[in-house]
Amino acid sequence: SQPTTAAGTGIPRLTVLAGPTAVGKGTVSADIRARYPHIWLSVSATTRAPRPGEVDGVHYLFVDEAEFDAMIERGDLLEWAVVHGRHRYGTPRGPVEEQLAAGVPALLEIDLQGARQVRETMPGSRFVFLAPPTWEDLVQRLVGRGTESEEERERRLATARVELAAEREFDHVVVNDTVARATDELASLMQP
Ligand code: 5GP
Repeated sequence: SQPTTAAGTGIPRLTVLAGPTAVGKGTVSADIRARYPHIWLSVSATTRAPRPGEVDGVHYLFVDEAEFDAMIERGDLLEWAVVHGRHRYGTPRGPVEEQLAAGVPALLEIDLQGARQVRETMPGSRFVFLAPPTWEDLVQRLVGRGTESEEERERRLATARVELAAEREFDHVVVNDTVARATDELASLMQP
């Protein structure tokens, strides 16, 4: 198995959690936030509008297009991507580097395009794929959530088909059968 800290430095490895649309990455990260407060969860910048209950600086940094452009130009983002062909999402680099340097285990919850970029920008990171128990289960989650339009659901389903095939690129696969179990497995992969 791979070492938990970057070779010889005592600095924790960055952990990247990715997986198909609606597999429950957001729920698992919320559970990490609630039950594993020693794990630091990166706050992404996004150009999409907040949903009810989302707090700026806690769930996302909500920025406009010009600010997102400026972040890219300054080299502030570890990775960024257009997700579901619509809004931009990206990981601010500074906070990740600060947490790791302070010895804090850090977690990114991002999409697959972002995970591929982190492979280049943060080599040595640990890549964890969150998988649905079955494809049917994933479809059920997409339809069952019911917060998106028909067109949006179709778009997300198409993305999920491609994303599911990416499992083989990852170091670990965690099956999201129950949230608590999946969260516990993720946290144990991040043990020092
Ligand atoms: P939502 O808009 O539902 O909060 O998130 C949509 C998607 O954006 C999720 O699949 C989530 O993993 C992804 N995402 C959130 N933050 C980032 C980020 O910083 N970078 C990338 N590449 N994807 C992100």
